Amino acid sequence: MTPQQRMIEEQIRGRDVRDPRVLEALGRVPRDRFVPESARHDAYADHPVPIGHGQTISQPYIVAFMTEALRLQPSHRVLEIGTGCGYQTAVLADLVREVYSVEVIAALAEEAGRRLEMLGYGNVRRHVGDGHHGWPEHAPYDRILVAAAADAVPPPLVEQLVDTGILVIPVGASNQELRVLQKHGTRVDLLATLSVRFVPLVRP
Ligand code: SAH
Repeated sequence: MTPQQRMIEEQIRGRDVRDPRVLEALGRVPRDRFVPESARHDAYADHPVPIGHGQTISQPYIVAFMTEALRLQPSHRVLEIGTGCGYQTAVLADLVREVYSVEVIAALAEEAGRRLEMLGYGNVRRHVGDGHHGWPEHAPYDRILVAAAADAVPPPLVEQLVDTGILVIPVGASNQELRVLQKHGTRVDLLATLSVRFVPLVRP
């Protein structure tokens, strides 16, 4: 078994992420290509890994949980906030029609862009800016994934979601909660939560 297959069996399937499409995507995306050279040996380990600029690539289980929670369809257009190294972006791009990814640190966005292009993910559009505002130009989105913890759910993200669209976002300071939210007209329903630890969504 490769380290990647072992990651999927032990950390993902073993913790009840069962959506076959999500498991297949995690099997296709080479996580080791998204971490710095010096951290390659840790690419499939059960924890976040530093990617420079004080940021980390999310733990594999968290990527899997968030991806499954989005209930993605191949036709979807997805907004991602916090491109980071581009790994979660690639998992999304493997599963849906189009991914729009916003990152506040220009150097990370550029590196991720080069990497995604080199690996053949042609359905990703990137933007450097503050994800609190979403990316209004391409709204509405079928799904939105936020990869850094917000103080509260930013209203523009809910506005930029289609009706019945799903938003996955970590909220809180020291005690963070990942919230899976679904928009129904003017109402937002809470579908699920998970206790998590993300880097903060900064206000540049
Ligand atoms: N999914 C990414 C997670 C990276 S960590 C990965 O697996 O690599 C969270 C990312 O959110 C960091 O790259 C950080 O720079 C970015 N970020 C923080 N605040 C932000 C903001 N206001 N707008 C956009 N991106 C932000």
